[in-house]
Amino acid sequence: MFEHITANEIAGYGVGALLLCATISAPKVDSFIAASQRSSLGMCKRCGGLKLIACSKCKGSGSINGRDPFSFNPVNGVYQSKGVSISCIKCQARGHFCCPACSKAPQT
Ligand SMILES: [Zn+2]
Ligand SMILES: [Zn+2]
Repeated sequence: MFEHITANEIAGYGVGALLLCATISAPKVDSFIAASQRSSLGMCKRCGGLKLIACSKCKGSGSINGRDPFSFNPVNGVYQSKGVSISCIKCQARGHFCCPACSKAPQT
């Protein structure tokens, strides 16, 4: 039985539940609004106003994990074939580009 629960307590639970729902759904709502209203807000469709686009080659990390065929270990005198991290040539290790759609300033 719930006779001992007052109306204020019920209202409090209701508000708490609403706040909880809002907190959980906030990121989804935010991304939904961002996706649907970018163009209407005058934001860049390509980068969403960040003026930056992640490098597709290095996935924004600025470096690529690859095998360097010329890796030479002077300690034991053998050529190593282990994976090495090399700077991304495409984005010059920055990991991102200026957005070509909205960025007017040339990157020097
Ligand atoms: Zn890159
Ligand atoms: Zn842009």
